[in-house]
Formats: sequence, structure tokens, C-alpha cells
Amino acid sequence: MSDATKDEGRTGDGTRAVRAGLPEPVKHEPTLPGPVFAAHFHLPGEVTGPYLYGRDDNPTWTLLERAVSELEAPGQEDVETLVFASGMAAISAVLFSQLRAGDAVVLPSDGYQVLPLVGAQLEAYGIEVRTAPTAGDAQLDVLDGARLLWIESPSNPGLDVCDIRRLAEAAHARGALVAVDNTLATPLGQRPLALGADFSVASGTKQLTGHGDVLLGYVTGRDAEAMAAVRRWRKIVGAISGPMESWLAHRSIATLQLRVDRQNATALAVAEALRRRPEVSGLRYPGLPDDPAHKIAAQQMRRYGCVVSFTLPTRARAERFLAALRLVEDATSFGGVRSTAERRRRWGGDAVPEGFIRMSVGAEDPEDLVADVLRALDESAG
Ligand SMILES: *Cc1c(COP(=O)(O)O)cnc(C)c1O
Repeated sequence: MSDATKDEGRTGDGTRAVRAGLPEPVKHEPTLPGPVFAAHFHLPGEVTGPYLYGRDDNPTWTLLERAVSELEAPGQEDVETLVFASGMAAISAVLFSQLRAGDAVVLPSDGYQVLPLVGAQLEAYGIEVRTAPTAGDAQLDVLDGARLLWIESPSNPGLDVCDIRRLAEAAHARGALVAVDNTLATPLGQRPLALGADFSVASGTKQLTGHGDVLLGYVTGRDAEAMAAVRRWRKIVGAISGPMESWLAHRSIATLQLRVDRQNATALAVAEALRRRPEVSGLRYPGLPDDPAHKIAAQQMRRYGCVVSFTLPTRARAERFLAALRLVEDATSFGGVRSTAERRRRWGGDAVPEGFIRMSVGAEDPEDLVADVLRALDESAG
């Protein structure tokens, strides 16, 4: 960690983002060294040192891992980050490395749509899977005897929020580990480790990298023993990030604060415009002062994300709305600089109404985007 980023109190998020993970300057070398493409490294004699084989470690990962640690836990030297090929690779690495047959795990019932598939696989390995909703800290009720609590806050796509500190304290009092999926908030929006979690896990595919061209995941943790197990899992499963993807991710993190501030401010403007429309119901954005999640979100989040969820009266209306949008692409995922939206029910996984729309607000001019959304709502009324 360089001196400029060591002390959280001395630098703001933008400064930290542009400098995160950079090596000490070396004359005639680039500021951010390019991707290191290597399956193996010169290794005469003893098997020691940081870089032996490309499935275990890579210098491009090392710099990215430092960058993520500096954002997830500024000023904390004891924290470690491991990058993975995707968010799911990172999530699975924590769950499958920490849990054994006979253990119980608590998952959110309204989490990312692939989480139930992971739960089924855990059950097949003899792990008891309990689920409860994110809202109302309902996971508290099923914590007794659990080995690990998995939190997703804000949840995707429902945007419910739970009190991470409260849940982490309750889990630790029962001897359980706590992991938080921090994908939606990004480390500039929320720092799970500071709220008491043992792991902050995220998909870097979304707003962290923000250009819709990279799949990536990471695990940040402070418990050396637990992280050693996660590292071992990465080695045996081999779900590693390519050097090019890792370098693109690091390059993108330099603009994280710019993107997040712009996209999140526009998300609030879009939510405020949607709130005045009679055909819109179930509007959720944790940054809206009257959102059911706002009170807890304001306690533990520094920024509220770029995703807005809402429901139109019917499936047909939602489809017409999506087709009428000109600046918003009908596509899945979120967090990119180009706005996207989708009718979430088309995937079948989430328990949401047919007209439920998850919109990811990009970096377009706010007035252009709000105008496009309002025009598409008018045109789709037909
Ligand atoms: C997208 C997403 C994931 C999975 O990440 P991938 O990079 O697509 O594997 C996990 N959790 C949340 C909350 C997500 O939005």
C-alpha cells in the first residue's frame, strides 16, 4: 500500500480510487504496469517466492487485489483480497471453503438469482441451508446453530436492506462467520468489514468495473486462516481471472468514484421522476428518503447504488416500455456506463411481479435519461 492511500483520514474516495493498488513509481516504467501474461514463471532451484505458476498467483492480480483491499478497508493492513473469474466463483469459494457436511448456513431468500442453485449444491453436500428475507433483519430468526451467515444488502433485484452491524453482532455471538455480498453498493457505497463482516464478496462484473466488458469477482477478508481456505479453493477449482480482465478491472477502478457519483445521482433523479407516475408501483431506491430501506441504508451506506426497481401494471406494458426506450438497452446485469433495464421475471428465478423492471442507471446526461424514461412510459401506455 502506498503512503498516499495508507491513511483513510488523509484522502478522499476519488484520490484513493485513482491511486488504488499502484506500485511505487519506477523510472521509465508505466504508472499501472500492463497485464502479465504468464502460465509459469522462471523458477530455478527451490520452490519459493510469490510467482510460481499462473493458477496460483499473477503480478497483475496482486496489484488489483491491493487496489480492492484499499477500497474495501482503507488503512487496514491486515486485510487480504483474492480475485476470481466471476462473482459466482468468489461467492462459491467462500461458501464451499468454509462449510462442511453437517454445518448450517443462512442465505437470503431474496438474493441473487443463482444463490438458490448454490444452496441446492450445498444441500447435496450435506449442508443445511436456511433462508429468510433481507428486509426486517429476518435472517436473525434462523441464526441459531449456523456456521455462516450470508447477507446481500441491498438485495438484487428487490433492493431491500438489512442492518449489517446488528446481524453481524448476532452471528458472531453465536460463533458464526459473516459474509456480505457487496456487489450493488460497491466498496465506495458500503464497507462490510467496518460493519463487522468477516468477508466482503462481490461481482466485479457490475459497477466496480462499469463498462460491461469484464467478468470478475473478489473476496476481501481479515481472518488469515479463513482466507487461506479461500485461496486453497481458488487453487483447486482454478476459477481464476485472466490477466487481461484483471488489468482492465484495475484500469476501470481509477474512475470508480466519478462513475458511482454520476450514476447514483442520476438514479435518484430517475427514481424521483418515476415516483410521480401513477402507473408505477413498488418503486424502490434506497436513496429515496421515503423508501422503506432508507433509514438503515443511511446508517450504513455512503452511496446508494445505480439500480432502481419498479413495477408496471402488466407484462405487456413492461415489454412495450422497454421497447420504447432509446437510451436504455434491454439487457441484464447492471452498473455499466450505458443504462440498461430488463423485465426481471423473464429469467424465471426471482419472486417478482410480471411487470417488474430492474433499471441500471448509466452515465448519460441525467435530463436525457429522465426524458427518455418518461417518453417511453407515455408511449407504452397505449
Ligand atoms: C451479478 C451478481 C452476482 C454474480 O456475479 P457474476 O460476476 O455474474 O458471476 C452475484 N451477486 C450479485 C448481487 C450480483 O448482482
